[in-house]
Amino acid sequence: MTIAPCYLLPSLPEPLAGLAELALDLRWSWSHAADVLWERIAPELWQATRNPWLILQNVSNEVLDRLSQDQAFVALLDHFIAGHRQRLAAKTWFSSSYPQPPFGQVAYFSMEFGLSEALPIYSGGLGILAGDCLKTASDLGVPILGIGLLWQQGYFRQSLDDCGRQQEFFPYNDPTQLPVAPVRDQHGEWLRVELPFPGRSVLLRAWEAQIGRVKLYLLDSNDPLNSPADRGITSELYGGGPEMRLQQEICLGIGGWFLLRRLGIQPEICHLNEGHAAFAILARAHSHMRDHGTDFRCALTATRAGNIFTTHTPVAAGFDRFAPELLARYMEGAPQAFGVDSDTVLALGRENPDDPREPFNMAWLAIRGSILVNGVSRLHGAVSRRIFQPLFPRWPENEVPVTHVTNGVHTPSWDSQDADRIWTESCGKERWLGDLQDIESRFQSVTDQALWALRANARQQVIGFARTRLERQSAAAHADEETVQRAGLALDPNALTIGFARRFTAYKRPNMLLADPDRLYRLLTHPHFPVQLLIAGKAHPQDGAGKVMVQQWTQFIHQHPELAGRVVFIADYDMLVAEQLVQGVDLWINTPRRPWEASGTSGMKVLVNGGLNLSELDGWWAEAYAPELGWPLGDGQEHDTDLAWDAHEAEDLYRLLEEEVVPLFYHNRDANGCPCGWVAKMRASMSRLTPRFSSNRMVREYVEQLYLPAVQIAAARAGRSQVERICQWQGEIAQHWERIHFGELQISQDAGMLHFQVPVYLNDLDAAGIAVELYALATEGQNDEVLSMTQGEALEGAVNSYSYRCEIAARRPASDYTPRIVPRMAGCQVPMEAQQILWYR
Ligand SMILES: *Cc1c(COP(=O)(O)O)cnc(C)c1O
Repeated sequence: MTIAPCYLLPSLPEPLAGLAELALDLRWSWSHAADVLWERIAPELWQATRNPWLILQNVSNEVLDRLSQDQAFVALLDHFIAGHRQRLAAKTWFSSSYPQPPFGQVAYFSMEFGLSEALPIYSGGLGILAGDCLKTASDLGVPILGIGLLWQQGYFRQSLDDCGRQQEFFPYNDPTQLPVAPVRDQHGEWLRVELPFPGRSVLLRAWEAQIGRVKLYLLDSNDPLNSPADRGITSELYGGGPEMRLQQEICLGIGGWFLLRRLGIQPEICHLNEGHAAFAILARAHSHMRDHGTDFRCALTATRAGNIFTTHTPVAAGFDRFAPELLARYMEGAPQAFGVDSDTVLALGRENPDDPREPFNMAWLAIRGSILVNGVSRLHGAVSRRIFQPLFPRWPENEVPVTHVTNGVHTPSWDSQDADRIWTESCGKERWLGDLQDIESRFQSVTDQALWALRANARQQVIGFARTRLERQSAAAHADEETVQRAGLALDPNALTIGFARRFTAYKRPNMLLADPDRLYRLLTHPHFPVQLLIAGKAHPQDGAGKVMVQQWTQFIHQHPELAGRVVFIADYDMLVAEQLVQGVDLWINTPRRPWEASGTSGMKVLVNGGLNLSELDGWWAEAYAPELGWPLGDGQEHDTDLAWDAHEAEDLYRLLEEEVVPLFYHNRDANGCPCGWVAKMRASMSRLTPRFSSNRMVREYVEQLYLPAVQIAAARAGRSQVERICQWQGEIAQHWERIHFGELQISQDAGMLHFQVPVYLNDLDAAGIAVELYALATEGQNDEVLSMTQGEALEGAVNSYSYRCEIAARRPASDYTPRIVPRMAGCQVPMEAQQILWYR
């Protein structure tokens, strides 16, 4: 396979050929070394877009000819190309930690990827996480590739009309303007995959983006050979109705897997970022069937060991569900496509496989087809265990097999130039590429003065950005000239600057600061200790309540012209706006209703830049917060949509700002005007939280806690006989489970020891396929306990029945303990792969 190096590029003079290599590698989105090159080529366009690919699209042959004669420029280009290649070939964390690579490839499936505004195929946090994950895989040398869809419109763009109402626009993503290239097959032909759809097939074109060492493959359906309706499947991210969504998910999961096959890539791990991609499980199992001539069940058992599912949803209602009739229509061809009838497929997405009316739940499919499952923060792990409990009936909630890997952000993508300098001086240039061991201690060499100067400069920068945006917005909304001019003077470079930017939707409570407008007004207009606010956020086009909340802010600003310089709503929240805000603000506020913010990542982006967090004790902040690091909101409990509680928290938010945040910022300043208490919090937050909530830590945890264990499990069932053994065991368990039972439990106590003994009647089940355990529930001060009972002598006068025993120190009353029987099989995950459990009662 060859890949066209240039796509719709001007023909570059030979000495400049390297420009395409640099422009097509999205590494430029976080590594700014080569920025000077682009600035030299087209200074104005560079300032406006920061998009090297766009610059190459627009540059004239004349300029190119001139630059190709410019020896200094060519030398500089050669220098960057050499540096680029050298970096790509350098040793990495992964290659040093695992000289014998434990796996060859991880395929990371995601509906959206937020890598850069130059490739706008994301809507929010989920996509940014996926983008940060690929960037980090490149940094650390972890062999991950991305699989996604090339959205023709991506997510909508926002502007505000004269009355401050959200307007939505869907600009077309012209693929020739995006830093992606068509994937070509060995004959130089554009690679397409063909998907069976009801009554037709749909062609998907393959594209690829380069992100340092990592490739992202994207599929789109906008092929002239498809019907007009099918051409639009990959048109709008999260647009259209349920059928369109189903089509998109089929394209992602099945199309993505087909593409890997066409490319000859055999990933050991498929990592499903959210349930959208779960159909990959079916396609992968079917490939296995065909390659090994097994049945579907065995193929699923064999391939499951290499599937990992990351759930991001904090409420069960958030999962994608499809009407059974709709799914059945798309699964008509299932026997040919997956070698299995559609009822079997449908059963995989149901809580009760036998209920034909139950909708098909993508998360259920994802769980049933994966070996390891994780939530995205400690709290979200616990919440997910509760949500997935119905699939593991009678298992204690904390044994529901969902762990967590807390999200992190790609620090180099979100730090400012000034922050980068300070971190480089204290912790070295390679600080985010290793295991982050000494970061906290090394950072202490930074002086208070340097930290405070960082804030002052950053504030000034973000104010400059906000002014430009505000001028543009005012002019676009037909404001009079005076208002437009005033916009250029908005905000005070020495005032405490608070940022609040996120999706506007009810659970994020983006209007909490407006609960008491007079009180907010007093905070903003304090004669000595004023506060200023930068707000941004889009409401989903179908979220009426979210749009109302956007308008509440814009109206508040309209009604108080005197506040125009103190509160700015920046339209069209995107990665560029986010980058400016997280670099510039002193304080980041986040007010979700617990536990609906599965993790949240925007607050992590301020850490490296010295911004502090004031946030609900939800998602990542519930595990990050300590009094010396920032401020907590809420009581760490769930209150659902209790409006009285919302009011109570708003009250708390004002109080925190008035009594703690504002005084810490303005009081106790030293002779140089540096607020010692504030800077101490900055230091603690930067040094302790930045490494912990980086995607470096996150990706290393994925490797160590999920990928490696999964690869080991998969290796243990590489042979057909092992897989058949597991399937046979599962069948026997299912067949005989209802008939196994306990005899009478006997407990005695002596010398501080408790002795438990219980007969177990196993029907025809082999005793090697089960385990008998003693279980005690967690109580205050005691963890839950699971103790193994030992198989003793066969019971006389009974068939296949044994006595099981256990002895323990009598620290708890004997009545705390209950025997139970669970399936057990070496190399198998229980309860993931066998949900039975029998309790003694
Ligand atoms: C980081 C980011 C998000 C996610 O922020 P949350 O705090 O998780 O809501 C959404 N949109 C953009 C543009 C971002 O940069």
